[in-house]
Amino acid sequence: MTGIADMTRTVPLSGPDITEADILAVVNVLRTSKLSLGPKLEEFEEKFAAYTGARYAVAVSSGTAGLHLAVKSLGLGENDAVITTPFSFIASSNCLLYENVLPVFIDIEAQTFNIDTAKVEEFLRRQCRREPGTGLPLDPATGRRIRAILPVHVFGHPCDMTAIGKLAEEFGLSIIEDACEALGASTPGGKAGTLGDIGVFAFYPNKQMTTGEGGMILTGDAELAALCRSFRNQGRDTRNGWLDHCRLGYNYRLSDINCALGISQLERINHILWKREKVAEYYTAALGDIVETPVTMPGSRRSWFVYIVALPAEREGERDAILAELTRRGIGCNNYFPPIHLQSFYRTRFGYHEGMFPVTEAVAGRTIALPFHSNSSLDDISYVSRTLKELLQDRWNAGPDSTGNRT
Ligand SMILES: *Cc1c(COP(=O)(O)O)cnc(C)c1O
Repeated sequence: MTGIADMTRTVPLSGPDITEADILAVVNVLRTSKLSLGPKLEEFEEKFAAYTGARYAVAVSSGTAGLHLAVKSLGLGENDAVITTPFSFIASSNCLLYENVLPVFIDIEAQTFNIDTAKVEEFLRRQCRREPGTGLPLDPATGRRIRAILPVHVFGHPCDMTAIGKLAEEFGLSIIEDACEALGASTPGGKAGTLGDIGVFAFYPNKQMTTGEGGMILTGDAELAALCRSFRNQGRDTRNGWLDHCRLGYNYRLSDINCALGISQLERINHILWKREKVAEYYTAALGDIVETPVTMPGSRRSWFVYIVALPAEREGERDAILAELTRRGIGCNNYFPPIHLQSFYRTRFGYHEGMFPVTEAVAGRTIALPFHSNSSLDDISYVSRTLKELLQDRWNAGPDSTGNRT
């Protein structure tokens, strides 16, 4: 049935889960005189650390700020390089560039879309000499010291942290976990964000929980935590006076207004994650026979950040036309992710081009993010699924033409 109602219907790509309790929590802070660096900051950090099992939690103004401080607190700089993935949101790589650290991209696995640890191992063993003295691997292209691995738990699926941990240990590397999409995800080794030296979460409104804008750094290392606290607050050393700045810092603070929202959201995070899992299950049941639906590896717990389907490989050329048709029908959708190495800024600065990371490019060419959030209604899910299915069946029954130019 395609009546007027359907033609004017819109289904947003994502949306926050805000309750009256959240609103009240925010308003209550506004009734106090402590809008920043007040009790809600400490409470949010303590409760977040308890939820994840981390020793230290440091709240910051965004996930990007958190990643920047992770790089900064580990002391990475212009002679250093970090192994990471080209299939991610751009912040996971930009955070290196802020400190003139070079990203060394390694291609992804086709199933989980996460960095391919077998390729990381091959790169470290086969292509990198080790620096005399330190034993650190040297990037063959630039001679820079490789100091860390920055895995991203893409779309909430945890990376193989056991393999990454072993390589880090053997090669003397630090681990920065970009867990911005993976709150609540876990592996047999523990929760995402607590499996490296430092882990980072983000609370932008499309994430599993939100503070409007915001982020959180987790670490088990007291010194890294103290450095992050200092960097986020203008380089102040907490032991000294308010105007005693002992290092170059930033204003990456998270206000008590944001923290109050975070505390209120965190209180029902398990319910939020459960609702998201149900939405994903409905989509998979509705779409599993026509497109590739997300795969979760045995032993891993995925936290649902977005719902991504992949067109069959031979239909890759149709993806953008399908996105346009969904958009025309009021369905919020997107091409998560365009590869980082093919962003114009990265092409210009580093000379990246197509063909360098074939798995990433193939995946990025055929994936579609569908409307997804914790309050997606059954009605919306079935409208989106039905529309996508009809659209694909119409195209594919018409034959092998993949130009999308049917009239
Ligand atoms: C959202 C996100 C970030 C950055 O978070 P912001 O809070 O938007 O700065 C970093 N990395 C990944 C993989 C993300 O999805």
